[in-house]
Amino acid sequence: MTKSHILGLGRGELEALVVSLGQPAFRARQIQNWVFRNLETDFRKMSNLPKDLVDGLESHACVATLKVNARQDSQDGTTKWVFETHDGHLFETVLIPTEDRRSVCVSSQIGCAMGCTFCRTATMGFLRNLTLGEILEQVHFVSRHLKSLEPSPDLSPDQVSNSTRVSNVIFMGMGEPLLNLENVASACETLNSADGFGVAKDKITVSTSGVAPKILEWAARAPDFKLAISLNGSNNAVRSELMPINRRYPIEMLMETADEYIRLTGQKLTFEYILIRGKTSTLEAARELKHIASHRHCKINLIPLNRGNPDMEAPSEEEIAAFERVLAQGDFQVLRRRPRGPDIYAACGQLATEQKKVA
Ligand code: SAH
Ligand code: SF4
Repeated sequence: MTKSHILGLGRGELEALVVSLGQPAFRARQIQNWVFRNLETDFRKMSNLPKDLVDGLESHACVATLKVNARQDSQDGTTKWVFETHDGHLFETVLIPTEDRRSVCVSSQIGCAMGCTFCRTATMGFLRNLTLGEILEQVHFVSRHLKSLEPSPDLSPDQVSNSTRVSNVIFMGMGEPLLNLENVASACETLNSADGFGVAKDKITVSTSGVAPKILEWAARAPDFKLAISLNGSNNAVRSELMPINRRYPIEMLMETADEYIRLTGQKLTFEYILIRGKTSTLEAARELKHIASHRHCKINLIPLNRGNPDMEAPSEEEIAAFERVLAQGDFQVLRRRPRGPDIYAACGQLATEQKKVA
């Protein structure tokens, strides 16, 4: 595709484009206002732009490049879209609304090279990185969706305006964000910028499988956003079986890196931990996990396994409760992530791979 993706252009780049179309640079700000404030995708509706510029933009640029391939709505309000890119790849984005938040789970790559055995995305292999424009378009699309919803009649005008805005963005869809580091870092900046989506820095979370050198690069490049590390195994034997990256960067090295990240950024780190029956949910594993998290500036998110691999299952409620009791003795916060959208395959990678199978 040769057209420039407006969402992926910084102010300077957009000015250069506008100037190359024979127009004054100040038009760039007007275009960005239309795109980010009004969520407009159609240049013809940008009523304060001269017709020559609209014609030039139509032939050289675009705002919306993704086609909706499938959409599923869960009974719990979660909505998942499978998008098709201009070159025919599928990936997914999920909107997870709660009473006071509208979180968007975005993808950073098409497929993933990391090969984690519990994850459906891994079965696709790695196809390509998403561009900066494609990452931001996911949030733009969901913002437009939220704007189009009927506001509840009980809300005040202020509440209505808040209830239609994306409040949180998590890079927990498809792909390993730190292997698309520059695009993900630039996306976080635009997500946060007042001229962009205006999402607070501490409401933007990037999740990594633990690519140690990239964590340090991230700490230098984007220290203000939240980082989560998918731990998922409490010792090297189990973690290497679940996450091949652990053979390259085993737990001790990952923890040294985690400490360095905390030192460099001053941020609290989140460890995500998937509960898989008989593998990661034993009491021994709980003790090991407690040991890892103790005395670290961190919190733990427990995630009962979602259907991802037919040979693995989530533990029972009783097993999870016993696991949590061990962790409760630690000096760190533990949260359990409630499964969202289980009826629509809302776990990482699931819907797009389903679509692929039937295609
Ligand atoms: N590649 C990054 C981000 C995308 S995966 C990473 O691995 O962190 C986002 C989260 O989904 C990770 O914490 C991953 O462990 C989790 N996940 C993947 N497959 C899952 C499944 N079947 N059930 C529950 N969580 C899953
Ligand atoms: Fe990739 Fe994350 Fe899935 Fe592992 S869990 S295969 S790193 S998307």
